[in-house]
Amino acid sequence: MQQNLIKILDVIIIGAGPTGLACAIEAEQSGLDYLVIEKGCIVNSIQNFPLQMIFFTTPELLEIGGMPFVSPYQKPTRMEALKYYRRVADTYQIKINLYETVVCVEGTDGGFQVRTQTREKNKCLYKAKKIVLATGYYDIPNFLNISGENLEKVKHYYKEAHPYYGMDVVVIGGKNSAAVAALDLYRAGARVTLVHRGKNLSQSIKYWIKPDIENRIKAKEISAFFRTNVIEISPKVIVLSDQTGKTWSINNDFVFAMTGYRPDLEFFKSLGISLSSKGQRPLISKDTYESNVPGIYLAGVVVGGMMTNEVFIENGRFHGQVVIGDIQKKLNQK
Ligand code: NAP
Repeated sequence: MQQNLIKILDVIIIGAGPTGLACAIEAEQSGLDYLVIEKGCIVNSIQNFPLQMIFFTTPELLEIGGMPFVSPYQKPTRMEALKYYRRVADTYQIKINLYETVVCVEGTDGGFQVRTQTREKNKCLYKAKKIVLATGYYDIPNFLNISGENLEKVKHYYKEAHPYYGMDVVVIGGKNSAAVAALDLYRAGARVTLVHRGKNLSQSIKYWIKPDIENRIKAKEISAFFRTNVIEISPKVIVLSDQTGKTWSINNDFVFAMTGYRPDLEFFKSLGISLSSKGQRPLISKDTYESNVPGIYLAGVVVGGMMTNEVFIENGRFHGQVVIGDIQKKLNQK
């Protein structure tokens, strides 16, 4: 069934993460007619983080819309953050369509059409003068592209340790997610092997985590192979290869490929947004975050393309003021 909404909105914000919500609050406070469209639940990425996750940052740096994030802890938990962002959405009465996927964006500045599909497979059409892409980067893992990666036992998202008690588990990667998952799995009784292509663990691992993982490796409580790649995964073993080309197999029940994530750059390209050859950075104005496609703005981590370690909730939450400020200015000029 095609549902046509004739009304032309000022702006459609795609994505209801902290950045998308911050944009919506700005739009609400600026009196713009807006809608947020989100393919999952509110702050879907945080929902998909490890269940017992503790943020690396302090609560006030996760705040949006000037609403205090109160936590008894120096670093808040995933559960507290989920509760906080639900409260923000309630307080500002943010207009969001949840579990609705944007299929395509057509048209030009001042007259965009956004086609979506709901969970019930209903097709919807919206019209908006401006578009904000706040789609984050947690939906698409950096795949290894090796044989066996599609097996059920291979995961790109780590949720919790308990199911892996007594199992041979390989964790791939050398940064924060790999270190946190390896330690958690080890402490829940999994036999953990860390495999990293680099010569040692990254300096970017947080200072309160790094000595812990290094000491577990030194004590052989967690096995580790550096300068090593996983080249094949099969149901009961995993095949590794070092830099000399030597290969060997180890027993394996589960794999956590903690290899990072990337924004949906193909979607950006389909909208006509240019990407730099180095780092695949979307072409945007540094002052307004408007892309090379007039009327389409980017906000949050997506502004960095593959450089996903530049924008976090802590700084992406301020993009809303810039983006919505520019949209309001341009709409007022018409
Ligand atoms: P990441 O920082 O992108 O690290 C990915 C790791 O996987 C790197 O060690 C990388 O190797 C390796 N890798 C990537 N592609 C690979 C491939 N094809 N084959 C083999 N190895 C590959 O990802 P992350 O650790 O998931 O962290 C993502 C973000 O989440 C970071 O900003 C991090 O700080 C944050 N984080 C936050 C928390 C928290 O707040 N509690 C917890 C965990 C992570 P190279 O080093 O060689 O590139």
